[in-house]
Amino acid sequence: MKKALVIAPNWIGDALMAQPLFALLKARHPRLVIDALAPKWVAPVLARMPEIGRVFPSDLAHGKLQLSARLMFAQQLKNEGYDLAYVLPNSLKSALVPWLAGIPLRIGYRGEARFGLLNVRHANPPRDKRPPMVEHYARLALKPGARLPEDLPEPRLRVDPTRMAATAERFGIAPHTRVIAFCPGAEFGPAKRWPAGHFARLAQMLRRSYPYAQMITLGSAKDAEIAAEIVSEAPFVRNLCGQTSLDDAVDLLALSEAAVCNDSGLMHVTAALNRPQVAVFGSSDPRHTPPLSQAASIMWLQLECSPCFKRECPLGHLRCLKEIEPEMVFVELRKLLHRP
Ligand code: SF4
Repeated sequence: MKKALVIAPNWIGDALMAQPLFALLKARHPRLVIDALAPKWVAPVLARMPEIGRVFPSDLAHGKLQLSARLMFAQQLKNEGYDLAYVLPNSLKSALVPWLAGIPLRIGYRGEARFGLLNVRHANPPRDKRPPMVEHYARLALKPGARLPEDLPEPRLRVDPTRMAATAERFGIAPHTRVIAFCPGAEFGPAKRWPAGHFARLAQMLRRSYPYAQMITLGSAKDAEIAAEIVSEAPFVRNLCGQTSLDDAVDLLALSEAAVCNDSGLMHVTAALNRPQVAVFGSSDPRHTPPLSQAASIMWLQLECSPCFKRECPLGHLRCLKEIEPEMVFVELRKLLHRP
């Protein structure tokens, strides 16, 4: 029985878009054990993937070398006897641990000068020629240059109804409440965040049509300020940003009747839970990182300046998001809420 170690991406969304790679590996090698080394803020989603065995959460910060911490992990992993490693981030640092741990086969894309660290290197297409991220990761399951199967599975996370009910109770959400979740954050930057005022206007429309629905905001502590802006205009919305763990947020999204998300990690989580959602795109490109679920509806204006992939609008007007009016999202959301 062979054992593989995945060096997971640093972003929740990317980790989810890597799941079809794990599914493909399991389909081709059913007895392969797949474990993952993941940043601790990403680890909970990997732990909910049926293909993944153990998850080693790490404190290794994105962009920092932390050589002694990497040496420590390598030493720990050496004793696990891994046969191969899949290195998903492009950085040199991310390829260090499997190399230091003496894992014989180390597979990844050509990234920052890591020729000696990886011994199966796939050609890394330039960003503008890169296929959708799911395909980009899934190709690592095959020999370099080989053709991908067309029917890649969509990411899916495990949920536990007992845990979901306990989480809901902990946050004071009564059983059978109709929950509509807003995920107003986007770690990348403001050019991916639908304006708080638009969320608030949407909430008011929803309130009129669905007076019994409980609207909540989900996200990290960094999103709490944007969520507070929403609540200042729509005080019936509960601001849970910064109050939940990622696991709690997964549970609350899993029980939500629908969600409205920016292009963010929680958008990919909602898709992997196959919950109905309207996904709002600004400076990024839904052809590259779409929510992978038939239950998702994408709002993207595809302006002539879009996608610019910038954190902040270089033109200063943010038309790509501001011109997605709350009424437009409301219409899409209503279709999802009334879907049989
Ligand atoms: S340049 Fe265009 S796509 Fe980029 S943030 Fe501004 S409005 Fe959006």
